[in-house]
Amino acid sequence: MLDTLTQRLAKVVKTMRGQARITEENSKEMLREVRLALLEADVALPVVRELTNRIKEKALGEEVVGSLNPGQVLVSIVQRELTAVIGGDLPEKEREINLACTPPAIILLAGLQGAGKTTTAGKLARWLIRNQKKKVLTVSADVYRPAAIEQLKTVSEQAGAEFFPSTTDQKPLDIAAAALDYAKRHFFDVLIVDTAGRLSIDERMMQEASDLSAFLKPIETFFVVDAMVGQDAINTAKVFNDRLPLTGIILTKVDGDSRGGAALSVRQVTGKPIKFIGTGEKLDGFDTFNPEAMASRILGMGDIVALVRDVTSNIDAEKAKKIADRVRKSGRLDLNDFREQMIQMRGMGSMSSLIDKLPAAMQEAAAKQNVSDADADRMIRRTIGIIDSMTPAERHHPELIKASRKRRIAAGAGLPVQEVNKLLKQYDQMTEVMKRMKKGGLSKLLRMAGG
Ligand code: GDP
Repeated sequence: MLDTLTQRLAKVVKTMRGQARITEENSKEMLREVRLALLEADVALPVVRELTNRIKEKALGEEVVGSLNPGQVLVSIVQRELTAVIGGDLPEKEREINLACTPPAIILLAGLQGAGKTTTAGKLARWLIRNQKKKVLTVSADVYRPAAIEQLKTVSEQAGAEFFPSTTDQKPLDIAAAALDYAKRHFFDVLIVDTAGRLSIDERMMQEASDLSAFLKPIETFFVVDAMVGQDAINTAKVFNDRLPLTGIILTKVDGDSRGGAALSVRQVTGKPIKFIGTGEKLDGFDTFNPEAMASRILGMGDIVALVRDVTSNIDAEKAKKIADRVRKSGRLDLNDFREQMIQMRGMGSMSSLIDKLPAAMQEAAAKQNVSDADADRMIRRTIGIIDSMTPAERHHPELIKASRKRRIAAGAGLPVQEVNKLLKQYDQMTEVMKRMKKGGLSKLLRMAGG
């Protein structure tokens, strides 16, 4: 599935090549593909609608910068909007765990059975102990499943947290009261309370969780939800959000083959931030939530946003425009322009860092050409070295360079004469391409990577 999505968007990027700006007309197909991509990624229909509208609105007003084509710009808008919708629009502070209260800070975990609550309790304990140097106590109020209590004991021990024992003949509120009392007397920083889950929403379970919440007044109440359940997550999230003062969401099993579209919908439906993600069965499979990375994952794209950022920040727009203007006028570019472009390419970072940011399908194409970082960098440095050994007149009219001058230039650059020949040949080819395109060489390069 991941492949189809990537291909879908890569195809759009390709079909929009050569178009100067994003219009109502050419954005249509792109938006259609985006809509399908999101639906396939399990994003709920109303959310898809809202998102595509937002994207459309933004896209029509967007300028297409220098070397990017409208398709690439559109993809970056999609990713930006997605990122915003799933939490990127929130201040960092609101995405972080809140422990600012008189200790112990109580964290209540709620969710359906199998969502990963107990595993998450262990993961969160481990994270708090390692990253925040907290003293953590865990307790299970799941009086229906002795195995769940036992499992919490196991993961707590693995995490290095203390486990407060409970039994199935106790009442959840009594367990909570005893654990809280113990946590206070032994100066715990954090008390994590695991609650009972059912396979589907059940009134008794909701009431119990709600009573626990009213009694404990937790500083954080996390809704733990399995990313693999897709659209079902929306209804569950609604019910939990209505009955509990949720403060955040923990999305588990993000390592599964689901696209994580649930993440987007759950955030929209509850209006609560996703704070953590579970990325594996083991306790270290846990991380704080990064909206940008999740948006990439949902779209199956590489980090287009970072690529756009690099391109726009590193290319001197003025210089690029001058070169383009000159090429347009004379229909050719000289070696000074060539050199300028080489320098700009180096400024954009390593070849592999650029390639990393391309979507998977494009990465494959780039890999086929076998460009290693070292190769690319060496090639660029050599080229600049050779051009630097030429006279200004030669740079301007490379066709005037005779054999004897080639030898001198090679000697000046400390390279064999073949290298000079190679460069001049490349220059000829590039001039040819330029003539046909009458556009910046760098954009050609990016387009080749895009195709
Ligand atoms: P609970 O019923 O909500 O307490 O769920 P559990 O903690 O017992 O988890 C249910 C199953 O999901 C277990 O087999 C866990 O190992 C698994 N699980 C939990 N979190 C993750 C995760 O982030 N990734 C993967 N792959 N499996 C997970």
